[in-house]
Amino acid sequence: MSGTDLAAEINRQTAARAAVLSMTPTLATVLVGDDPGSAKYVQMKQRRCAQYGLASRHVHLSAETGTDELVAVLGELGADPRVHGILLQHPLPPQIDERRAFDAVPIQKDVDGTSAASFAAAALGRPGHRSCTPAGIVRLIDHYAIAMAGADVAVVGRSSILGKPLAAMLTQRDATVTVCHSRTVDLGAHTRRADIVIAAAGRPGLITGDMIKPGATVVDAGFTPGDVAPEVHDVAGAFTPVPGGVGPMTIAVLLSQTVDAAETSS
Ligand code: NAP
Repeated sequence: MSGTDLAAEINRQTAARAAVLSMTPTLATVLVGDDPGSAKYVQMKQRRCAQYGLASRHVHLSAETGTDELVAVLGELGADPRVHGILLQHPLPPQIDERRAFDAVPIQKDVDGTSAASFAAAALGRPGHRSCTPAGIVRLIDHYAIAMAGADVAVVGRSSILGKPLAAMLTQRDATVTVCHSRTVDLGAHTRRADIVIAAAGRPGLITGDMIKPGATVVDAGFTPGDVAPEVHDVAGAFTPVPGGVGPMTIAVLLSQTVDAAETSS
């Protein structure tokens, strides 16, 4: 299941939608601290914006920034009519109250779908911006015509940006969802039963061939080298590569939701 191909198609549509607007859809990226990985992801998102006709504005705050200061910056961006979407890059430094920060992004501009209000909208199937990685995974599964309704799905990971919203979205799509995490006893017993396994734990090689039902669909949300061991590809009916699977979909959803936000603001 190539995320690169589907993301390219979504990005072409995003660029076409951006081109007919009276303003340039603008994504504000906010980075707190100097984590090189996070800085790289933000740069990649800015590059993609430029590539597909969106503008970006970057705010870089020091690693010592407190929650009040960050919330104030997010409030200013929230009130600025020239900014259509706001992305607060995570993870955040430990002194920051992450939930307060995510929830300081107004729901209309929460194009990364990380606020509690966006989570609730996703869980209830209401309109709103979705958490990008889970939404990208759902789009990939749909694109490859893999049935979600009635499917047994094992989601491995329960973070607030990935596992939890994904489980909520899949439940909305009539899947029977099991959410696994670090305290799950006998992970393999859950994954072996599943028609679709989604690995979102950040533990390279966690999912091995003997944990997969032959023919099952396996989605790997991990960054290189991925949470799924290579031998799984011989057992699975369909799988996402790493790289080129979930990663490009996350950015494609982010850009597409930024244009959604610009469209509704005009
Ligand atoms: P996270 O916040 O660290 O959460 C990891 C989750 O995995 C936690 O719920 C944890 O359980 C669970 N877990 C850890 N070890 C486990 C084990 N041995 N067995 C079962 N569950 C285990 O990570 P995240 O932000 O959700 O990201 C997950 C992965 O997706 C990472 O590899 C990350 O790099 C990747 N990611 C990719 C994209 C993309 O665009 N491709 C975007 C975001 C994240 P507990 O809750 O019990 O601790």
